[in-house]
Amino acid sequence: MRTFGWDLPPGCTMNDIDPPERPCEVCGMALDDCFCPECPVCGEYGNPFCYREHGLTVSKEQSESLAKHLQREMDEHKADELLWDEMEDNRLKEEDEYRAMEDAAAMQEELEKQDGEPCV
Ligand SMILES: [Zn+2]
Ligand SMILES: [Zn+2]
Repeated sequence: MRTFGWDLPPGCTMNDIDPPERPCEVCGMALDDCFCPECPVCGEYGNPFCYREHGLTVSKEQSESLAKHLQREMDEHKADELLWDEMEDNRLKEEDEYRAMEDAAAMQEELEKQDGEPCV
């Protein structure tokens, strides 16, 4: 049975992984590129609330754009996870190698100790 500590690599926090700015929730575009129409009631763009409460309807372009962006986000997330798994695999492999080296060194030391012991 092996027991390993389960730590994040140093210097990595969850904040590094999450993008700082959220895209538009209605069309999925970055807020600068959002092409949602202005809400006639409150004057906001791309606010999902307006589509529920202010009578705006999501156009085909908007829903297709959102679907595309959600898909891309999921793909990126998956790619991130794969990268993360790979990093973790490598780390475990390195730890295994290090452990094997340590074991070998310890065994060597043990042998040397036995060899060096005077016979009584
Ligand atoms: Zn939008
Ligand atoms: Zn509104």
